[in-house]
Amino acid sequence: MLDLTGKNALVTGIANNRSIAYGIAQQLHQAGANLGITYLPDEKGRFERKVAELVDPLKPSLFLPCDVQDDAQITETFTEISKTWDKIDILIHCLAFANRDDLTGEFINTSREGFKTALEISSYSLTRLSQAAAPLMTQGGSIVTLTYLGGVKVIPNYNVMGIAKAALEMSVRYLAAELGPKNIRVNAISAGPIRTLASSAVGGILDMIHHVEKIAPLRRTVTQLEVGNTAAFLSSDLASGITGQVIYVDSGYEIMGM
Ligand code: NDP
Repeated sequence: MLDLTGKNALVTGIANNRSIAYGIAQQLHQAGANLGITYLPDEKGRFERKVAELVDPLKPSLFLPCDVQDDAQITETFTEISKTWDKIDILIHCLAFANRDDLTGEFINTSREGFKTALEISSYSLTRLSQAAAPLMTQGGSIVTLTYLGGVKVIPNYNVMGIAKAALEMSVRYLAAELGPKNIRVNAISAGPIRTLASSAVGGILDMIHHVEKIAPLRRTVTQLEVGNTAAFLSSDLASGITGQVIYVDSGYEIMGM
């Protein structure tokens, strides 16, 4: 049985109730994990209040700001974590960003700044957060990130985010190889398209969802909770032999050739 009792799980990337990270946090909580939640702070503290209200029923023992573009803040966040928790068992990396202009039209027009921003927030942040979390994973651990088929195959409008996801998936393999001897596993979930704040920035997301509903073996898209279940499994001892993998939670869409 899937049991995460006694495990400390740090979840990044909750923006609202549609966030995949929220689905993951719910399933980790249900499996008995003790949650720590990080949010992206804004000047007026609006996101903080919104996310705090949303996650309140999940009774997180930590609720901290963490902008992955800010090294000082990452250091501060993990210093705070180490004051409250004696270890981290699970790190959920569930965030991404690219400028809206770079998620429509032609990839060839991607700007230098747009490329750097997308890769820094969506790919490098996994390595940076793993760097900070690994020393606290004293009893082994599980790191799970979120990717998309657009990192492997060309998907219209996904553009620079596809490049970021390709880098992210390769980062998973390098991190898994290096952290394996410490019994820290690193895996990615490649989720099918789901309507969220981030995905609404990708041009034609609704068409992508309708296409999956027609073509995927299960004839539907997936839900945040289904992704959450897989994240909980990958975070549990049931997945103790799995590392460096990309697991598709996409109603089977990825296997189809035509
Ligand atoms: P959300 O918009 O709900 O989540 C994205 C999160 O990233 C938000 O919480 C956002 O914060 C956060 N974020 C952006 N920039 C930063 C930053 N600098 N520091 C810290 N956090 C930041 O969308 P999803 O749930 O869809 O996205 C979660 C992950 O799932 C992403 O990696 C995405 O690529 C992936 N994914 C999504 C799919 C989909 O169809 N939705 C399919 C496959 C993968 P804020 O909103 O406050 O700015």
